[in-house]
Amino acid sequence: MVHVPTISLNQGNAIPQLGYGVFKVDPKEAERAVGMAFEAGYRSIDTAMIYRNEEGVGAAIKASGIERDELFITTKLWNDDQGYDSTLTAFDASLKRLGLEYVDLYLIHWPKPSLDKYLDTWRAFEKLKQDGRVRAIGVSNFKIPHLERLLDATAIVPAVNQIELHPSLPQNELHDFHETHGIVTEAWSPLAQGELDAPVIVALAEKHGRTPAQVVLRWHMQRGIVAIPKSITPSRIAENIDLFDFALDDDDMQQMRELDTGRRIGPDPDNF
Ligand code: NDP
Repeated sequence: MVHVPTISLNQGNAIPQLGYGVFKVDPKEAERAVGMAFEAGYRSIDTAMIYRNEEGVGAAIKASGIERDELFITTKLWNDDQGYDSTLTAFDASLKRLGLEYVDLYLIHWPKPSLDKYLDTWRAFEKLKQDGRVRAIGVSNFKIPHLERLLDATAIVPAVNQIELHPSLPQNELHDFHETHGIVTEAWSPLAQGELDAPVIVALAEKHGRTPAQVVLRWHMQRGIVAIPKSITPSRIAENIDLFDFALDDDDMQQMRELDTGRRIGPDPDNF
């Protein structure tokens, strides 16, 4: 069985450094896909209300027979549900679809500054945490000014900020800010949605006798970042967790730094 390292969160629990993301996994396919991920050794699953596959994730959890405390389940609050009361209602619905009594991590999916509701939303998250219905609360797609406002106005520091992060967008400044405040950085689209053909990555893959995806995921691991690659291909699901018996050296890590172009795949959180 693969041993995936964990990272302690500032709210008492710990997150596996590698998880399995299910964005764009067809709701009808989700149970089977998550089942394959469990078979391959993943124990952390990242879903969201808006992926419409929480029920499939829940079914896979039930069918797996894995003890609840061996799993780490994340889901997210969608933008339309921001606000104090609507957050509590949306959380109940997510939990019901997942068939769980608690989630390990609940995230505000996007800050949506134009709505100006993320502080009220966070206060509802704090209540969910106090009531023991979530083990940790965090955010996603927050930039430094959004985090600063949250830290100034509310009591609990987010455990995690899940952000777009891959070799062309290493997010150095935000990652440093997180480290200063005890927030764990989690990378979405850690494989840049499969865009892995940069010559540096291909050369490092050849050097280590690994695949480009493994080089990129290893780079995340060595930066202390949590990654949640998605695949519905059985061989890739296995490949993406087979990372813990090789290492990039300092020179390799330096070469990876040169891929930083600041290019986003997804939207800028200020305007989305
Ligand atoms: P990823 O960077 O994980 O890339 C997924 C793509 O890469 C798929 O097309 C997959 O193909 C392909 N792929 C996977 N493994 C390999 C491999 N070993 N070799 C070559 N290609 C590979 O992108 P995602 O956007 O899916 O991000 C991952 C997760 O992050 C999501 O599933 C979701 O959980 C989360 N996320 C969160 C967001 C947020 O706003 N908080 C936004 C976007 C994502 P195939 O499936 O066909 O094998």
